This record gives sequence, C-alpha cells and structure tokens, in this order.
Amino acid sequence: MPLDTGLAAATVSAPDALRIERGPRTGQPIIISLDTTGPGPALGGCRVKPYLSWRDGLDDALRLSAAMTDKAALAGLPYGGGKTVVALSPATAAHYAGTRRGDLLADIGEAIESLGGRYITGPDVGTSCEDMAVVARHTRHVLCRPPHAGGSGDSSAPTATGTLACIDAVRARVFDGCPASELTFAVQGLGHVGVLIADALARQNATLTVADTNPDRLRLASRWHARTADPARLLTSDVDILIPAALGGALTPAIVQELRCRAIVGPANNQLADDSVADLLHARGITWAPDPVVSAGGIIAAVAREITRLPEPEVQDLLTAIGERLGTLLDEAAATRQTPLQVAQGWRRASRYPRRVSASPG
Ligand code: NAD
Repeated sequence: MPLDTGLAAATVSAPDALRIERGPRTGQPIIISLDTTGPGPALGGCRVKPYLSWRDGLDDALRLSAAMTDKAALAGLPYGGGKTVVALSPATAAHYAGTRRGDLLADIGEAIESLGGRYITGPDVGTSCEDMAVVARHTRHVLCRPPHAGGSGDSSAPTATGTLACIDAVRARVFDGCPASELTFAVQGLGHVGVLIADALARQNATLTVADTNPDRLRLASRWHARTADPARLLTSDVDILIPAALGGALTPAIVQELRCRAIVGPANNQLADDSVADLLHARGITWAPDPVVSAGGIIAAVAREITRLPEPEVQDLLTAIGERLGTLLDEAAATRQTPLQVAQGWRRASRYPRRVSASPG
C-alpha cells in the first residue's frame, strides 16, 4: 500500500536505516529506525502509542534508537541500536488495544522479518511480553516473550537488579559506603521497575519518599511505610538519592537549580533534557549516574538468556557488573575532573560505531 506524501518524503534520506511502511492488514504506518547495525543487529523495543502526529512518532523512533546504540555500546554488547514505533492516531488507538491488536502485531512482525535479522525487537511502552509472543508468529527476531512461549519474559527485574547495583556503587563512592538504612531515597514512578527498586530498598530499611501520577500506584506506598509526594515536587525532595523511574527528560536546567539530593541513579531512559544538564549537575556537586549504563540490565539479561544462553549465575554476574561499570566510570570522572556524561561519551566514542542522531528525552 503506498504511503502518503509526508511519509514517503521521510524515507528518502536513509532508506537502509529507516523503514516506514504501512501494515498490509491495518494500514498503520510502522516506523523502524536502525540507528546502528555496525557492531551487530540493532536491538530495541517496539513502542505502540497514540501520537498527535506520525512525525512525533518518527522523532521518538530516531532518538530512542540512538539511545539504544549508546546502551548497547556502554554495556559492551556486540549489537547496534534500533526501535520500532507505531504512531497511532488518538482517534483510532482504542481499536488497536482491542479487536484489531492481533492484526497490528502481525503487521509489525512481518515488517521486522523483512529486515532479515538486522533488527531484534522486544516490548516497550504500549507493548507487552504477551504481545511479543504474537509478533513471534511472524518473525524469529523477538526477545522477551513470556517464559511459557519460549522467551525470557519481563525485563523489569533485571533492570531493577542493575539499578540497585548502581545504587550500591554510588553509596560506596558518594556516601562513604553508608548502608541504605541510613540514607533517604526518592523514587519517581512506581511502575514495573520502580516498585521492584522500592521493594528492595524497603527490605534494606531505607527511608523512602515516592510519587506517581497514577493514584492507584501511589497506594503501594503504605507497604514500604513511605512518605508520598506530589509528583511535581518529588524531584526536589530533601533526600540523599533521587531515583528517576518514570519518563525521560525529567532533569531540566530549571529543576537542577532546585534539587536537594546529592546523587541521582535511576532506570528511566534519557533523563537529561539536554547534555548541558550534566554540567549543571556537576557544578552543583550532584553525582548523576548516566542512564544508558544504569538501565542496561533488561537488555543484558534478555541477550544473555535468549541469544548467548548463559547459565543463570553468569547472567546474575553480568547484572552485578553493571554496578562495577558505573563505579569505574565515576572513578574516572573524579580522577579526570570530567562529568560522568563526558566519560560515558568518551567510552561511547571509543566503541567505534558512530550513531546517526543524538539521543534526547524519550
Ligand atoms: P512503567 O510504565 O511500568 O512505569 C512508569 C510509572 O511512572 C507509571 O506508574 C507512571 O504512572 C509513572 N509516571 C509517569 N510520569 C510520572 C511523573 N511525572 N511523576 C511520577 N510518576 C510518573 O515503566 P517501567 O517499565 O517501570 O520503566 C520505568 C522507566 O525505566 C522508563 O523510563 C523506562 O523507559 C525505563 N526502562 C525500563 C526498562 C524495563 O525493563 N522495564 C528497561 C530500561 C529502561
């Protein structure tokens, strides 16, 4: 089916790296951005959500695939970065949550299969492990199907494990190894990953302040004896460690001036509104742990379990190593008087494969 004029125009600049086509069953535009395939197939999830314009979905695909390039490179994975985005119109989105979902997932699977293994997908915002089992009927190149369907399942647990290892690395360096029970934490977002992090910190008797824009999620606070905060004020809570576990772009130049934490370590992707925020945080003496390093547990575990087929103890070792990697990065930043972002960018450049666009909030 031919694309409309606007879509066709967007495909001409880099046809090998950017695929935009309409699904034959649904007519929905499916955007697949392969930011890099030099190190190996591009890894990155499949996002299905309403956008005001398909171009917003295209922007998301470009910057999220770039962020996946960084994440894979900084994790030492022999893979590139990619992303699928299906930009639903707000008017028809409900169809694709219900009766037409199977058709949409079939269209996505066929589009991925047509890339011949240059791209491997998985769940993301708006798709689940169960959806990946349906996509997998049309392509082999899918991670994180449910275990009963042959996959490694939800990646939230390894993402939380990697984040907790990074919190330990920050406790060791910024708080002289002070136990979590003597520190205060603010968790922004009580979704799949945020809840697991809060559970683990509560088990260590940490003092928690939490926020979520969804009031149902906020009810969980009682199980951790946590304080609750207005989502708009959570970031500026007077705590030791701030844990962004909601959406990207939370750390803006304006908010940095109001922060009262000493360190920021969280799984949210693309936390900085722009790179200048890393300098502002540094100037204020706030240690920021780069999110492409912190949030890599999910992708590291999925590759290790489903592709390299490592035994489980070795998978756990890889997740623990995320904290060691962050520790090395922070030590290098301190020794060379660079920001953690500058060190991460240096490591990224040393990994040889340039990315196509710069990552920004997503
Ligand atoms: P999720 O959608 O399950 O949870 C996000 C939560 O944040 C939701 O409960 C939502 O209501 C809440 N929220 C949104 N805006 C908020 C705000 N302004 N203030 C407070 N709460 C807000 O997502 P998740 O799977 O838990 O992932 C959390 C973050 O970690 C995301 O940025 C995601 O991209 C990133 N991440 C997740 C994984 C994974 O394996 N799930 C892997 C890598 C990175």
